[in-house]
Amino acid sequence: MKILVPVKRVVDYNVKIRVKPDGTGVELGNVKMSMNPFDEISVEEALRLREAGKAEEVVVVSIGPAKAEETLRTALAMGADRAVLVETDDAVEPLAVAKILKGVADAEKPGLIIVGKQAIDDDSNQTGQMLAALLGLAQATFASKIEIEASGPGGKATVTREVDGGLQTIDVKLPAVVTTDLRLNEPRYASLPNIMKAKKKPLDKKTPDDFGVSTEPRIKVLKTEEPSGRKAGIKVKSVAELVEKLKVEAGVL
Ligand code: AMP
Repeated sequence: MKILVPVKRVVDYNVKIRVKPDGTGVELGNVKMSMNPFDEISVEEALRLREAGKAEEVVVVSIGPAKAEETLRTALAMGADRAVLVETDDAVEPLAVAKILKGVADAEKPGLIIVGKQAIDDDSNQTGQMLAALLGLAQATFASKIEIEASGPGGKATVTREVDGGLQTIDVKLPAVVTTDLRLNEPRYASLPNIMKAKKKPLDKKTPDDFGVSTEPRIKVLKTEEPSGRKAGIKVKSVAELVEKLKVEAGVL
């Protein structure tokens, strides 16, 4: 079985985001970019399934600018076998991403597609769900555990999902789309020798046109604002004063 893993290049999660003065978005110039953290978890899970003999090949795909090749090379250094870069300088919305991924999936015929539950830049949490719908496949979102009972068509995966108030376990028929949650695993670091080896692994280049997908936006961002700063705290002298302030000033009691 082949596992397809989409990986997005996003602003590194440690970077303090700055909004552009004109409010059209966030500053991306000279900002450290990395693989979306949920996608690192997806790559790790795909590698563990391959190492457990449940899959033979892990293919990673990214839709983005030429520099998204760095993100793909990171995934190859972690252990993925092959990469596909769908190159575009446009900001691609989740529906167009899902349509392109459908094109890649139609060509690759994976038995499992492991998608991050959300990209930490746009926080859409849409791509995996839309991809499953476009492909007409079962989906298991927010996975904290994935077990493959039998690989390939006719096979099934048992997925534990994080839901309100607990964990839900479901069976999905393969091929399927699974989206990853934070507690699924701890991604490995790429070793230096593997980073060197990754430079020679195959990387296929495509464009959205190759899949007949338009990246024309359907959504218009009206404004982007910084969250309001936290107000300075105060010290109170007694419990009675604290209760009084919570009652009268904060109105929470
Ligand atoms: P979103 O729906 O934008 O929150 O993204 C959810 C997941 O879809 C991400 O974690 C990725 O696995 C995948 N994804 C979204 N955008 C891209 C992209 N440009 N290239 C590759 N994968 C993507």
